[in-house]
Amino acid sequence: MDHFLYRDGVLRAEDVPLPEIASAVGTPVYVYSAATLTRHFRVFEEALAGLDHLICYAMKANSNLAVLRLLGRLGAGMDVVSGGEYLRARAAGVPGERIVFSGVGKTRDEMRLALGQGIRQFNVESEPELFALDAVAREMGLRAPIAIRVNPDVDAKTHAKIATGKSENKFGIPIARARAVYAEAAALAGIAVVGIDVHIGSQLVDLAPYEAAFAKVAALTAELRADGHDIRRLDLGGGLGIPYRRDNQAPPLPFDYGAVIRRTLGHLGCEIEIEPGRLIAGNAGVLLSRVIWRKRGEGRDFLILDAAMNDLVRPAMYDAWHDIVPVSEPEAGAELAPIDIVGPVCETGDTFATARPMPFVGEGDLVAFRSAGAYGAVMASEYNTRALVPEVLVSGDHYAVVRARPSFDEILSRDTIPDWIG
Ligand SMILES: *Cc1c(COP(=O)(O)O)cnc(C)c1O
Repeated sequence: MDHFLYRDGVLRAEDVPLPEIASAVGTPVYVYSAATLTRHFRVFEEALAGLDHLICYAMKANSNLAVLRLLGRLGAGMDVVSGGEYLRARAAGVPGERIVFSGVGKTRDEMRLALGQGIRQFNVESEPELFALDAVAREMGLRAPIAIRVNPDVDAKTHAKIATGKSENKFGIPIARARAVYAEAAALAGIAVVGIDVHIGSQLVDLAPYEAAFAKVAALTAELRADGHDIRRLDLGGGLGIPYRRDNQAPPLPFDYGAVIRRTLGHLGCEIEIEPGRLIAGNAGVLLSRVIWRKRGEGRDFLILDAAMNDLVRPAMYDAWHDIVPVSEPEAGAELAPIDIVGPVCETGDTFATARPMPFVGEGDLVAFRSAGAYGAVMASEYNTRALVPEVLVSGDHYAVVRARPSFDEILSRDTIPDWIG
């Protein structure tokens, strides 16, 4: 459930009519619902109730400082994948002991930053990373708490670009090599082993791959404990999918995901960490856009929007579907006609939907892309020198601009022309 509903003929974010935001801030603009973010976080809390746990929000899904502050105030930890994300999490007020550092290519500078300012654990993905982290920690007179990310060789059955748990993917250490690498880690003075980490992919719509991966983690926990390692924490990654198509998708519920965790790992007495991103932020945001032109083509019509692939890249990058709805509520039983919905960027890839059945939408009308709160604004660029899309956070009947649209002066001022060009 989210808080984007029609009332009195107009789509609202909580109690704020979207046209009000479009007039004040301009379009395109991302609009997030604080109540929905809160609700999604609490649903995970309830799913893991009774287990010792920490929900580390995967902030790559949506890392606006206001979103991080809101979730941090609810008690969320953060899963970061870069030094920049670490600094954002800290700037939002999240303490280091609630931050886990994931990612396949951490640099020594990033390790130093997180070790120096405080970190819950590094999720180590390779032996070179393990040895580098050991050296950095020893230089600083510290021990780095780590979990080793194992690759369980499980097919997450999701889009190829976001599947991460098969042996051919770049992520983690093959589970068959885990015991050997844990033995190496235990011998390093700059390393303190605290647990095991696994993350098999994103937008999973079936619990079976989780069940398979977690069963392997349970078996590995027993083996590693028998080898003398202090395995007290299990980080299970994120990836639970959301219904991008309301008409035909019903991904598993967090409650049932929680039941899989209990069933497979609950008896081990470990602290459980999960790293949900998309499920918390995805349906908590819409991308609001205005129709520039309605254009007649050969055998098809086009809606040309003021939002483009640089603002929301998921359709171009992952062939993703977003429900696109008129902000003015269509009459009940309004006729639907197929139309191509595109942006103004000079690429055919700048297509949001092809032959999408839509009620009539005309020039100047507003439309909303649903489920755009995750992997939307964070993946935006200024391609075609289009200003970075702004973000608005709504709570009840009020809203705030939480990232302003940069001016073109600001955009141009980031470039410099060296004197020698003349
Ligand atoms: C991307 C990612 C997540 C979050 O995935 P979602 O599908 O957004 O829940 C969690 N952990 C790691 C290591 C990731 O790379």
